[in-house]
Amino acid sequence: QSREPDKPLHVRFRPEMRKREVGRKELSVVFPGALKNEEFVVYYQPKVKLEDRSLCGAEALVRWQRNGIVVPPEQFVPVLERDGSIHTLDFYVFERICRDQADWRSRGLEPVKISANFSRQHLMDHDCASHILRIMEKYDIPAGLVEIELTEPSGMEDFSRMKDFVGELTKNGIAVSIDDFGTGYSSLNILKNLRVNGIKLDCSFVKTIEQPRPSDHIVLKNVISLINDLGMDVIAEGVETENQAEFLVANGCGMAQGHLFDKPLPHDLFEERLENRKE
Ligand code: C2E
Ligand code: MG
Ligand code: MG
Ligand code: MG
Repeated sequence: QSREPDKPLHVRFRPEMRKREVGRKELSVVFPGALKNEEFVVYYQPKVKLEDRSLCGAEALVRWQRNGIVVPPEQFVPVLERDGSIHTLDFYVFERICRDQADWRSRGLEPVKISANFSRQHLMDHDCASHILRIMEKYDIPAGLVEIELTEPSGMEDFSRMKDFVGELTKNGIAVSIDDFGTGYSSLNILKNLRVNGIKLDCSFVKTIEQPRPSDHIVLKNVISLINDLGMDVIAEGVETENQAEFLVANGCGMAQGHLFDKPLPHDLFEERLENRKE
């Protein structure tokens, strides 16, 4: 075979690969320092009860404040998942949540349940559930004030590890919910075989409310009632319009989060939201 075709390929692919490589390497190198520097900050996005839109919880979402720029998680979470340091970041965020909860409690603010995102990759290797329990003990946080969000498992092995992890947490009264539900390959298996407290409908589901194909509303309606019938909470993500909120509440979806209600808020603004919730 002629070697000629390699040449243009080489030229075409090299710059892209180099750019990605540098980014990843750079992040792995600067991550420990950035963490120590407190460059990773936690935002809180309120969750509301759809029936009356009252505040009923929040999700912690991490941001990287790097040289005055707020870097969204899509730009560093996947890299940290690959090099293994997401574990460190997830526990850092979790500890921050517990510290904030303890602070709000000590100041007499009525707290709400706050959920943390945990990447699945490192669940078992690190004695994850007991680490979570230890942090909660350290800050004296009641089980009802935190929740763990996990995305759908990617295969059978992953599933059984997740089952153990979920069992360990729920045995101790800690709620677990499945994030981005409907984007994976084993959704029904999860509903049947994993005893979780809640299911978060991915925003791609919610988007279909606006311009539905014939099957979209049927699937969404029945998924909501299936989850309700199984005794789990349903929470919709990425709700942006009144239309979507109305459809969801009419079809039995209990809770929601999204820009229609609140964006992810920095600590102080979320604290105000906690203070001013009684209307
Ligand atoms: P997620 O857990 O599904 O979080 C929901 C995402 O939807 C958040 O993006 C949130 O800002 C965004 N969102 C909320 N309401 C709306 C809306 O009305 N419209 C639209 N278009 N988007 C909305 P964000 O904060 O960029 O986080 C993206 C993902 O990064 C999260 O998805 C989660 O998977 C991951 N992530 C965030 N923080 C952490 C963390 O501490 N640890 C780990 N492992 N992953 C995290
Ligand atoms: Mg989440
Ligand atoms: Mg999600
Ligand atoms: Mg997501």
